[in-house]
Amino acid sequence: METRDWPLEKLRELQEQQLRRLLTHAFEVSPWYREKLRDVPDPARFRIDDLRHLPILEKSELQQHLDQIAGSARSAPDARENYSSGSTGTPVRLYQSQEYRDWYAADDSRVHRGLAGTVRDAAVNVLWFDAFALRRDGLPATVQRLRAFRPALVIGYVSTLIEVGRALDRKLDGLAAVITAAETLMPRERGMIGESFGAPVFDRYATREVGTIAHECEAHDGLHLVMENNIVEIVGPDGQPRSEPGEEGEVVITSLRNLATPLVRYRLSDMACLGRDGCSCGRQSVRLASVLGRMSDLIVSPRGVLLHALFFMRLFDKAPVHRFRVDQETRTRLRIRIVPAAEYTDAVRLRITSGILVHGDPTFEVAWEVVDDIPATSSGKFRFTVSHVGKGESSPPAES
Ligand SMILES: [Zn+2]
Repeated sequence: METRDWPLEKLRELQEQQLRRLLTHAFEVSPWYREKLRDVPDPARFRIDDLRHLPILEKSELQQHLDQIAGSARSAPDARENYSSGSTGTPVRLYQSQEYRDWYAADDSRVHRGLAGTVRDAAVNVLWFDAFALRRDGLPATVQRLRAFRPALVIGYVSTLIEVGRALDRKLDGLAAVITAAETLMPRERGMIGESFGAPVFDRYATREVGTIAHECEAHDGLHLVMENNIVEIVGPDGQPRSEPGEEGEVVITSLRNLATPLVRYRLSDMACLGRDGCSCGRQSVRLASVLGRMSDLIVSPRGVLLHALFFMRLFDKAPVHRFRVDQETRTRLRIRIVPAAEYTDAVRLRITSGILVHGDPTFEVAWEVVDDIPATSSGKFRFTVSHVGKGESSPPAES
């Protein structure tokens, strides 16, 4: 039986065993963890529930103290450097082991086999779209390359796949699934991508530092955690795990497969929400109901209401708008840029503005701007919301 089909109890046992291995290893190789974990008496008896007592590892700490954190593991023969894209700031650098790379690669084939059912392990061929290289004028060449490649699986950013999908004149032969990553997938976009590529679309949550964290199954009802590879905690502002379905919190990850840079309770600065137990697909792994996006994309209203990209996506759902982006310029001022469709009218603007004031915060000033295009960020990802206001400030910044 594949690990992903294991009963929940067995998955947790596997996690605990891997966690003990990770902590034992961290003690051996890492001066950072020898200091941080000095209160852990015996890693060989450590339990998953004990994790909440360990300190959270911040991204800034990984950026500044990589050598201390990885310790002697960074000179292991199979350790390779990897970088996160740094689309919201400084890239994060870390080392990854061969075991990590094997599990990461295996995940695509596992997901794929699960979805397609009939494809042989060895026959898995995956085409990653390179969002950096892909530009509008390169679309015909990309489509040609796609057809020649005959991928069984296509993986890409939502916005990239929509662009490519628009350029496809007919569906792709032999394609079993499209996997979207790095951006929130909304029903309309899912429909557009599925229709143009001619295959079901599956959402995935992954990062460069820890690989695939969760992905959809054929039920398309939340994302199953890849429990074999990571321990995922959804934590509140106090750093303590939330366990009730529907509770939102920040994602904190303990990476079980990468001994080249031990990551114990690593804060990803993403917000997510736990799902309910039990999925109609029969798998027992824990699910995320949704991934709400990055903390840097969160808008905190003047009255302290937390608004994430999904809030605005729901308001824009089915609106005659090709693209939108919301910038919080000051605490009170939102600027909404849209690329309108032909049916766009002033009534649409009024309806959405009213939705923001009623369901968000009545003290917002909302400015609208109609534009020809809204470019993606330098990493190729598209951001629906961006806040230019620092988080955790007690007084509003000066309005300019
Ligand atoms: Zn499922």
